[in-house]
Amino acid sequence: MKLSFITALFLVGSCTTLRYTERIENIKNNIVFEQPEIIKSHLNTIKVIDLKMIVSELASEKYEGRRAGQKGHQMTCDYLKNYYKEQGIAPPENAPDYAQIVPSTYLPSEYGDSENVIAYIKGEEFPDEHVIIMAHSDHEGIIDGKIYFGADDNASGTAAVLEIAQAFQIAALNGYKPKRSIVFLHVTAEEIGLQGSRYYTENPIFPLEKTMAVLNIDMIGRTDFKHEENDQYLYLIGVNRHSTELPFIAEKANEFSTKLDLDYRYNDENESNRYYYRSDHYNFALKDIPVIFFFNGEHADYHKPTDTEDKINYQLLEKRTQYIFTTAWYLANMNHYLEANLIR
Ligand SMILES: [Zn+2]
Repeated sequence: MKLSFITALFLVGSCTTLRYTERIENIKNNIVFEQPEIIKSHLNTIKVIDLKMIVSELASEKYEGRRAGQKGHQMTCDYLKNYYKEQGIAPPENAPDYAQIVPSTYLPSEYGDSENVIAYIKGEEFPDEHVIIMAHSDHEGIIDGKIYFGADDNASGTAAVLEIAQAFQIAALNGYKPKRSIVFLHVTAEEIGLQGSRYYTENPIFPLEKTMAVLNIDMIGRTDFKHEENDQYLYLIGVNRHSTELPFIAEKANEFSTKLDLDYRYNDENESNRYYYRSDHYNFALKDIPVIFFFNGEHADYHKPTDTEDKINYQLLEKRTQYIFTTAWYLANMNHYLEANLIR
């Protein structure tokens, strides 16, 4: 019997659909956490006591609210560099002092130059490919004589990056070097328009074509108005924009590790708060790089001098940091390069 034209069209249509669903299933089934005990033992090196020490330091008066281009922020950069030196984590070969100078032309006219701070652990199998773990190091500084401490924004994210770096370094020293390189990037001048990340993406220290994914951590130590009942959550934003595979990895890492309630309500590009456009991952997303923005949402002390260290929930910060570490571990050690968006 001759196949009618309409039937033929229908069959072609359903085959394409099936192929797409099958491919999605394959992607999902391919995500297996190898060496689970190794991941778990290193995830457990991320601890409340260390996170508290870092946040308390950076959100103290000494750093004067870490305004990009000013003394308190330069001291923050020096703190970060010393941390990496002490941990034995190397600077990039083309930024031997861990610093990328962001010229004053990127900052308001009254400021001098500022710095992005960068360290990395070299991958063993695919050293040219890398995953970036990022947090902005600056905040608002002093306004009308008041210090804006920025404990949640973003001493919390900064502490998370440092603790994740330490966990990967301990793993490397224990003989578990990552397959891909891992870059720890502390960008400046987020609060004055994502300028440090813009400068980095215009002048990348590691080639953007080999930047497999960017994990941006900006405010993860508090609870927002919407989660006063259940604080075991984290917002994920941007996760499905440039890779079909990345959302499945983010979910699996969570199941494997800390089982937070992953909340996607701000992931919609048209969401009225427009968070997707408001932190440093956005400059990477503009270059078609898969990103995840990890975020706890806004609270009463957001961008106020009252965003202080004593209000950080350190148990929660520990859990969220462990979760992000697990996601990064998987990305750095997976056998294939992250799949871009599948076409239906
Ligand atoms: Zn921030």
